[in-house]
Amino acid sequence: MSDPRPLPMGSTIGILGGGQLGRMLALAAARLGFRTHIYCPDPDSPAFDVTPSRTVAAYDDEQALAVFAARVDVVTYEFENVPARTAAFLGELKPLRPGASALAVAQDRLAEKAFLTVNRVPVAPFAAITDLDRLEAAIDELGTPAVLKTTRLGYDGKGQRIVRNMEEAAHAWEVLSPRPLVLEQFVPFEKEISVVAARGLDGDIATFEAAENVHRDHILKTSTVPATVSRRTAARAGQIAAGIAEALGYVGVLGVEFFVLPGGRLLVNEIAPRVHNSGHWTEAVCVTDQFEQHIRAIAGWPLGDPTRLADVVMENLIGDEIAAIPLGLGVAVRPHAYGKAESRKGRKMGHINRLVLKKRAG
Ligand code: AMP
Repeated sequence: MSDPRPLPMGSTIGILGGGQLGRMLALAAARLGFRTHIYCPDPDSPAFDVTPSRTVAAYDDEQALAVFAARVDVVTYEFENVPARTAAFLGELKPLRPGASALAVAQDRLAEKAFLTVNRVPVAPFAAITDLDRLEAAIDELGTPAVLKTTRLGYDGKGQRIVRNMEEAAHAWEVLSPRPLVLEQFVPFEKEISVVAARGLDGDIATFEAAENVHRDHILKTSTVPATVSRRTAARAGQIAAGIAEALGYVGVLGVEFFVLPGGRLLVNEIAPRVHNSGHWTEAVCVTDQFEQHIRAIAGWPLGDPTRLADVVMENLIGDEIAAIPLGLGVAVRPHAYGKAESRKGRKMGHINRLVLKKRAG
C-alpha cells in the first residue's frame, strides 16, 4: 500500500524486530513526536523498554500481524531477514518502507549480486554453487583463496568459509550445504568502508560520509570517520550508495559495505536495507543521525541534514566490554547501552562514540 502524504506527529510507526536497531529507531521516532509499536517474537527484546506498544508473536502469525497493521500508520523493520510472506502480507495493509523489493535483493547474496551487476556496480567475481562439481569448476575458474558463503541468513561471518584448496572446498561444502551457496573470489582489500544513504519518499537522497570499519572475530569493532581513503574514493562510495538507493526506488536508510582495493578501486560487499551498525557514529556528530533520517524518510518528511560536526571513532562494546560504561570513559565520549539483560560472548551490548574535538585557537 502506498500513501504519499507525510505522516502527522502523533502517528504510530510499526517496527518489525526488537533488537538494538529497533530500540534506537524508537528513541528517534519519539523525539520527532511519533509513537512506536514494536513487533518481535522475543519477549525479552531490548527495544520493548522504550516503546509504548508491543506485540510478542511469530513473524508468520497472520492474525497478530493483522492486528499490528491495524494499529500502525506505516511499517518498517530493523533486520533484513523479514520473511517475504510477512512483508507481502503487511504491505497489503499498510505502507511498508523500505519496500519488499529491497528485502528480496538484500536477503539473498545471489539476487543482490545480480541486482548490483545489472546496475553496473562492481562486486567480487562470483559463481552460484549448486553441487560439488560446480564448486570444483568454480574454484578452477575463480582461483584460490575464495570464500564459500550461504546465499541467505549469513551475518557476522556466520555461514561462510575461506577455501584455499580443493580439500578445504570439499570440507566447506559438507559444512554449508545443502543450503544454496555462492563462491566469491577472495578480495585482497586494503580497507573496508561503508556508506549509509537515505532516500526520501520524494526521491531526495542524502548520504552520510564514508566510515572505515575494522572487524574483530568477524564482528564490527570500530567505525572511524573520516575514513583514511582519498576524497575521490569516499565520494565515489557515496555516489554508488546513492545510485543503489535510486535503482531500488528505496525509501529509508540503507547501509552499503565496500572493499577498498589498492589504488582505491571499490567493490560492493553487501547491502543492508536498514539502519546500520557502521552508522552509529552519526548519533554523536551529525546534525541528523541515521535513526532520525530513517524515521523522517519513512514518515514522508523531508530528509534531515547529514553534515558531520566532528571527527569520531565508534567502538562496539561486545560481551563484558559493556562494563566500561558506568566507569569513567574519559572526555568527549558518548556511551549508548542497549539495555540487554545478559551479556554473552560476541553479543553487541552497546557502543561508545569517541569524539575528536578540534582544539580552539587561543
Ligand atoms: P559478509 O558476511 O559477506 O559481510 O562478510 C563478513 C566479512 O568477511 C567481511 O566484512 C570481510 O572482512 C570478509 N569477507 C567476506 N567476503 C570476502 C571476500 N570475498 N574477500 C575477502 N574477505 C571477505
